[in-house]
Amino acid sequence: MKQIRTEIIGVGTELLLGQIANTNAQWISEKLAKNGFNVFHHAVVGDNLQRVINQFTHSESRSDIIIVTGGLGPTEDDMTREAFQQISNLEMVEHKPSMDKIETFFRKRESVMTANNRRQARVFKGAEAIENEVGMAPGMIVQHQHATWIFLPGVPREMKQMVEHRVIPHLKQQTGLQTVIKSAMLRFVGIGESTLEDQLKDIIQKQHNPTIAPLAQNEGVAIRVTAKASDDNEANQLIEKTKQEILSVAGAYFYGSDEETLPERVFSLLKTQGKMIAAAESLTGGMFTDRLISLEGASKVCSGGIVCYDAKVKENVLKVSPDTIKKQGTVSEQCAREMAENVCTLMDVEVGISFTGVAGPDYSENNPPGTVFIGVAQKGKETFVKKFIFQGDRDIIRNRSVIKGFELLWNLLKIA
Ligand code: ATP
Repeated sequence: MKQIRTEIIGVGTELLLGQIANTNAQWISEKLAKNGFNVFHHAVVGDNLQRVINQFTHSESRSDIIIVTGGLGPTEDDMTREAFQQISNLEMVEHKPSMDKIETFFRKRESVMTANNRRQARVFKGAEAIENEVGMAPGMIVQHQHATWIFLPGVPREMKQMVEHRVIPHLKQQTGLQTVIKSAMLRFVGIGESTLEDQLKDIIQKQHNPTIAPLAQNEGVAIRVTAKASDDNEANQLIEKTKQEILSVAGAYFYGSDEETLPERVFSLLKTQGKMIAAAESLTGGMFTDRLISLEGASKVCSGGIVCYDAKVKENVLKVSPDTIKKQGTVSEQCAREMAENVCTLMDVEVGISFTGVAGPDYSENNPPGTVFIGVAQKGKETFVKKFIFQGDRDIIRNRSVIKGFELLWNLLKIA
């Protein structure tokens, strides 16, 4: 694929003084990248004619497409036109539609138009003028020697409208670059971001297209695979190939793609296996059940749940043995086991899950906040119980418990 070198120059002393951030360059870069253009340089230069000329000369020597923002307005320190005229020797002509617009503006406001307002309507001879739909000064596309120069107003609103409506379509047509950028998310659970990155180190290092970026998420870790190609089909093929490489290393932790969530994947497993689940929730207070029931068609997989926050509910409703509560406490492996098994029996379902622990901020039964036991009982199988110590505040601990519950179910059910 042809390498087109693109550069963005911001003109304005305000930028150098730090009075405004160069958000124009950031925004344009993002747009260009999405459309397959390589941005190699950002430059900023103050309102000084000689320095703008120097910058333009330098940029011309290294770039094919040069986008300049700012310095097109009516004020005297607007250096962009002047500087480009000096390096190009192109004549300036009045752009009639822009001039008409400026005159109408002043006529309507019944104010006097000063000479410098005329300056805004000047374009280089042979340039393609870009109408300013939301302001006065037109933009310009100028072909000069090997490079394409694009001059845009500094005002973000005006610049953005021109880039979206005219610049990107123009550049795509001119370069014949029919690039599509496609991304896919691969989602993993049960593995930390740094461990996953380490396992994929070799693939990440040798990979340029698609690119691979690990991202920490609330529910596990995601890998974003981004391909640049000439059409959708080619992009999909590139993504698929890389996906297979990644899965050959970390497939054991993979649970879904793109917008798929862990609860959705657990839901699908339960559904395809024809299993119903019920939950006994202490510290999570129904959050687990809520996540499942919020999915369409939940009645096929979830029979309900018991919020058993108080020990009395665990004992009287869930039938956890008083002995267990007395001797081992409600935050214990045995209590979680009985909660999961009993909810399974009480609701006559194939799978029961339980959550008992300390959401904090205080200790409970000598257990520090974050101590959580999660149990999973399955008809005809041995009950699984695991202890976790989660860090964070009450909300985080409760949320982590729910996500961990889904993770355990995912791991246990997928091998069923
Ligand atoms: P004007 O018609 O206002 O003179 P212009 O094209 O001459 O427009 P400038 O005078 O350089 O542009 O900038 C106008 C305003 O646009 C600045 O005061 C600033 O608020 C904003 N601006 C300019 N350059 C940038 C930039 N690179 N990033 C973000 N905002 C910018």
